[in-house]
Amino acid sequence: MIGRVIVMKFGGTSLGDARHIREVVEIVRRQLPARPVVVVSAHAGVTDALLEVAARAPLGDATTEPIAARHRQILVDLDLPHQLLDPLLGELHDLARGLRLVGAASAKARDLLVSYGERCSARTVAAALGAGGIPATAVDAFAAGLRTDSAFGRARPLPDDGRIEQAIAAVPGVPVVTGFIAADELGNVTTLGRNGSDYSAALFGAALRATEIQIWKDVDGVRTADPRLVPEARPIRRMGFTEVCELASFGSKVLHPAAMVPAMQAGIPMSVRHTEAPDAPGTHIEADVAVPHGAVRAIAHRAGMALVTVQSDRLVPQHAFLGRVFGELASLHGELGPVAVSEAAVTVALDRHAAGPAAARLGLLGEVGIEPDRAVVGVVADVAAIEHGAAAAVFDTLQKQGIPVRCAGQGARGGTLAVVVAETDLSRTVRALHQRFFAEVGS
Ligand code: ADP
Ligand code: ASP
Ligand code: MG
Repeated sequence: MIGRVIVMKFGGTSLGDARHIREVVEIVRRQLPARPVVVVSAHAGVTDALLEVAARAPLGDATTEPIAARHRQILVDLDLPHQLLDPLLGELHDLARGLRLVGAASAKARDLLVSYGERCSARTVAAALGAGGIPATAVDAFAAGLRTDSAFGRARPLPDDGRIEQAIAAVPGVPVVTGFIAADELGNVTTLGRNGSDYSAALFGAALRATEIQIWKDVDGVRTADPRLVPEARPIRRMGFTEVCELASFGSKVLHPAAMVPAMQAGIPMSVRHTEAPDAPGTHIEADVAVPHGAVRAIAHRAGMALVTVQSDRLVPQHAFLGRVFGELASLHGELGPVAVSEAAVTVALDRHAAGPAAARLGLLGEVGIEPDRAVVGVVADVAAIEHGAAAAVFDTLQKQGIPVRCAGQGARGGTLAVVVAETDLSRTVRALHQRFFAEVGS
């Protein structure tokens, strides 16, 4: 038995440079009595840069040199040996060269390539903790027993049988575990999808029966809207797991949509904390947070969507048509937004990149139309709020702003109303709805 621990996850921005990493060392130091297991993302921008290498490899001009230079600079700025990462950076260099020679990067090769971001940052953070007098050891999540299926790029975890706890218990000092990555049963490196380190933190937290899962970010908690669109959006002090799931699944980038599930199932509270203001309370997420009756809680949004409509030729019965449409949609892997079903047509919002493949498949079932450049805005609320006036208020606000709504739908638990608007109207929509629901209310 490992005994009681807390999981502390630090995101890419919180590990973006030496200054931030030094702050992280102090945050961990303060929590040493609670026995932290640290989970880290790659330094900000590194995953994007690695994916760019994978995308360019087939063109023959992919180089990992700027990525290697960035890592060495962080080591120098931290007064750590600049060769610390040379073995890993050498492997990365060779891998990129291999992809150039082959002229292709499969999903499997891409996952292996991007894994170096988290593998490097875990070693740097462990070394920085060590230099700060806190013994620590970097651990790759695959060596710590995190197993997934083989769906490269969006792998799903396999049940843990106690091996994670066993592996972590054997680690000397503070374990600094890589977020985002894992391995399938054959030992191939996999990734959990963009922003997956939040999910890793929750998976490790659940496997270790942690007392708390702390997600440290560059923002002072979950706010009533994305502060990049609505700077005056306020942090929400306490939230229930379900509403945070709704917020994340309707596009809010603040947490990975799957991250709440392991914590919720294991009954472990989560918190979202600000690395730049470590004493601020942040957002506390728990099962039994009583959501104020009739309250609108937050506005989520997702850009980069398209609407695809398929019209039945009425040669097949309606139920068979619907069955086939959803069968085709099930075989696509992108995120689905609101779906509108009318007597002989289905309109679905989906990821822009999935629109072409979806239209090709649905074209076999009827006439298809694509509306590109759409966005989904979700108003996350208590069910009672949606039923008693919030839905009307959403449409009223958008009508007053002259923003056309193309399609609308309710979340699985009835507590979110989502509307599809033109992407050019996205920030206006989020701001107008935030103003309408949060102008005078305290948080
Ligand atoms: P990390 O790299 O630490 O995982 P991310 O950049 O993935 O952090 O997520 C934090 C960002 O999420 C914030 O900087 C903020 O811009 C964005 N965000 C989107 N919606 C919200 C929201 N409702 N509350 C807080 N932040 C949000
Ligand atoms: N580094 C990964 C990403 O950028 C995972 C994460 O940061 O959570 O998506
Ligand atoms: Mg993130």
